[in-house]
Amino acid sequence: MTTWGLIGASNVSRQFMVNAIRAQAGNQIVAVCSGNAERAAAFATEFQIPVGTDSLDALLGNPAIDAIYISTTNDQHYLQAMAAIAAGKHVLCEKPLAMNLTDAQAMVSAAEAAGVVFATNHHLRNAGLHRRIQALVAGGELGEILFVRIFHAVFLPPFLQGWRIDKPAAGGGVILDITVHDADTVRFALSDDPVEVTALAASQGMGVAGLADGVMGVMRMAGGALVQFHDAFTTEHVATGFEVIGTKGAAIARNCMTQQPVGKLILRRGQEETLVDDYERNDLYTRSVANFEAAIAGSGVPSASGTDGLWSLATALAVQESASNGCAVKVAI
Ligand code: NDP
Repeated sequence: MTTWGLIGASNVSRQFMVNAIRAQAGNQIVAVCSGNAERAAAFATEFQIPVGTDSLDALLGNPAIDAIYISTTNDQHYLQAMAAIAAGKHVLCEKPLAMNLTDAQAMVSAAEAAGVVFATNHHLRNAGLHRRIQALVAGGELGEILFVRIFHAVFLPPFLQGWRIDKPAAGGGVILDITVHDADTVRFALSDDPVEVTALAASQGMGVAGLADGVMGVMRMAGGALVQFHDAFTTEHVATGFEVIGTKGAAIARNCMTQQPVGKLILRRGQEETLVDDYERNDLYTRSVANFEAAIAGSGVPSASGTDGLWSLATALAVQESASNGCAVKVAI
């Protein structure tokens, strides 16, 4: 049972997170803060939240609030998280944690020093399908992992375009939006970290002001596996997918790089394909909130920690650097 404040009158809150927070018994959302007072009031009314405010201080000064969910544009996460941590609040922060690694590291360190839970809202590792793939890998059923292929090219619907396609200063672009999720999902599935990336990016009509709307690249994992990824905002005619290819078998998933508990998983050995259907179809965001609250209660750990958010950001920044300078770039936190 946790009392929440929201920073950001955002789509992701509207679509998923208000419901996910309210899905936990006894939870309350008592305030929402927006940079715009009218938007705060409208959001508060829409979701029957008692307070809508444009004052971060007022929100963070409310002693009833235990936990803060931050879902503003990416450039705002750092200062808002630091203020929330300084106010003694637990923080569930959207990805990417910040615009650079120094800021993100400061967020993680500040939370550790303050003794509050700080977590990253990477939804995909909460999906039953991805957890089933992780179990196949961890159980040795795929053998040694040689390659991963990630198909995360989507069509960004008009209501999500906004700052993602035209505001570099807000943290727009496909790499900070989608590649961060690839990095987190592959780290989770393989229990391994990327060490190096190479990538080429494109602006094919949606991204402006220098923002990429498509990227293809390769990550090398510490254990030796190579990970091919394809992310885009512009593709209307392909399914998403995640494939883990090992020496004993391959996990082939389709329609799974998504916010919904959907997708199909096949275990392939040689020419033989077996449907793997024994995984949970839970709401991804509800599980993220439940695990975050278990960490607050001292009975669990967040689905994705602050350190996990550091890794996904470090990987995405390395992909950006590689796409801009044409060189392979090392990944480290
Ligand atoms: P939105 O565009 O809905 O909201 C981002 C910010 O934009 C809000 O904080 C809001 O500012 C401002 N804003 C909203 N509506 C308007 C408007 N009409 N005019 C001007 N400004 C407006 O972003 P998303 O919900 O798509 O993304 C928010 C964060 O969540 C990002 O960090 C993103 O990466 C992350 N995200 C994560 C997902 C996940 O699955 N983990 C899924 C989607 C997003 P204010 O709060 O000041 O009102």
